[in-house]
Amino acid sequence: MERREVAAVLTYVGRLDPRLVRTDEGEARSQLGTWHELLSDVPTTTSQGWDVRETARKRIVTSPYPILPADVAREWQAHRRERLARHTDPTPRADPDNPQAWRAELLAARDAVASGHAAPSAHRELTAGRHRPSLKDQLAAVGSYIPAAVRAELAPYRPARAAREAVIAAGGPDVLAVPCEWCHADQGEPCRRRRINLDGSAQGNAPRATAHPGRVDRALAAQAQAPAA
Ligand SMILES: [Zn+2]
Repeated sequence: MERREVAAVLTYVGRLDPRLVRTDEGEARSQLGTWHELLSDVPTTTSQGWDVRETARKRIVTSPYPILPADVAREWQAHRRERLARHTDPTPRADPDNPQAWRAELLAARDAVASGHAAPSAHRELTAGRHRPSLKDQLAAVGSYIPAAVRAELAPYRPARAAREAVIAAGGPDVLAVPCEWCHADQGEPCRRRRINLDGSAQGNAPRATAHPGRVDRALAAQAQAPAA
């Protein structure tokens, strides 16, 4: 509050409680100085339910003692704390790879809530799945590229493709370049192990680390026909 706003508040509380009125000019100036000192960072009103006059009026109604500026300042601090406690940081719109901008946006949002310029944002905003267009662009830029080092680390978990890559690296045929006539695996798909039930129906369809022999033969034949790379 500005000094003149504090003076207006003092006039208001003096009307409600005449004990606060100072008739001596020096005393009045000193009283205004004290109130301004303690309430300079307290707003008169906010759009979010804070009103200094209302706070002072309630205090005067409920307490037998003359109101002190510290009473009002404490009420404001409690109001601020209560709002921040209800606030959940929404996901900033800033680029997450720019931590300064990200942090600045979070702090600005908290400041706006604490100072009563914005309503606290509820938890559901975190899970509302707000679309961030830049993320899509980033994913598109990254694509499905797997760095060679990561591919090598993943190899043990992808036995069929790892075996194929090892064979090709050794100059052997690319078994996945041809379909398998035995298990009907398509081109590019690993051979599959089929378990046959007693009634003859197929059950289970686990990929095999190695290709069926017939497929290897076909791949060798295809490699022999193709021009040497
Ligand atoms: Zn097969």
